[in-house]
Amino acid sequence: MTIVKKPMAEANRISVMLNTVFGVERFPVKVDELALEYSRQCFSDSPIAKVQGEDLDDFDGLLKANKTRSKWLILYNSATPSEGRKRFTIAHEFGHYILHRHRQSLFECGDGDIETGDNNGRDIEAEADLFASTLLMPLDDFRRQVDRQPVSFDLLGHCADRYGVSLTAAALRWVEIAPMRAVLVASRDDHMLWAKSSKSALKSGAYFATRKNTIELPHDALAHSFNAFGGADIQTGHAQSWFASEPAGMSVTEMTRVAGQYDYTLTLLLLPEAEWQGAHHDDEEPEEDTYDRFIRNGQFPVK
Ligand SMILES: [Zn+2]
Repeated sequence: MTIVKKPMAEANRISVMLNTVFGVERFPVKVDELALEYSRQCFSDSPIAKVQGEDLDDFDGLLKANKTRSKWLILYNSATPSEGRKRFTIAHEFGHYILHRHRQSLFECGDGDIETGDNNGRDIEAEADLFASTLLMPLDDFRRQVDRQPVSFDLLGHCADRYGVSLTAAALRWVEIAPMRAVLVASRDDHMLWAKSSKSALKSGAYFATRKNTIELPHDALAHSFNAFGGADIQTGHAQSWFASEPAGMSVTEMTRVAGQYDYTLTLLLLPEAEWQGAHHDDEEPEEDTYDRFIRNGQFPVK
């Protein structure tokens, strides 16, 4: 029987070890050294022998074994200008090594669809991403950075710097753990690329099914080109502009920041608690948002 390794548990196990060795002020994680050292110590018959940048045309990163599977190699795309993206890619490939190396000898990750050949309904690309974000941004430390502080892109930028990841990766991590209703939207040319809702936002029906639909930003959205010359990067508006099912009096706080290589815009929406949960029908499956497809395609959150 194959033992199924869980991404968060494996990343946390390594984090505990790093805390013991380096103390809690140990960020950003030196992920290339870690992959080499950890695999050499724990799996000496088949370690990662090299982590190397290369001009990869079609991929962000790959993990591959030699013929006898006695050594592994991680390559990342050195043409990527973002250090945060490189680090996330290395952590992602390290995740494949820890979680999935017994299934195959080659993992190619990046643009385009990845055939995982996975029959168990588990998505190894999403698992490798979860491993990477847990390893680079451990929950306990992340909470210490953001707890009891109003969220802002400056605060998330501080997290991105601390962990050596992209602003997008830090913002996604924040949305994952946010107790309040929050939705992160990435957009380009006035349309959503993907969106990610916090748990309570999803539960109240505040989410965007960007995988199934093409969704334009509301015309009064800060990130909409109609408002390009306003100059503000925060505003309070009507929640209904974004979510038709929100009650008329519900407000939304909206913050924006240009991200990627300045090629898309992030909008963070903060909603007050839902007055009622009527917008969501329990017999409906929550629709997967595009973030899931975004990570399935092996596109990592980029700076
Ligand atoms: Zn991958």
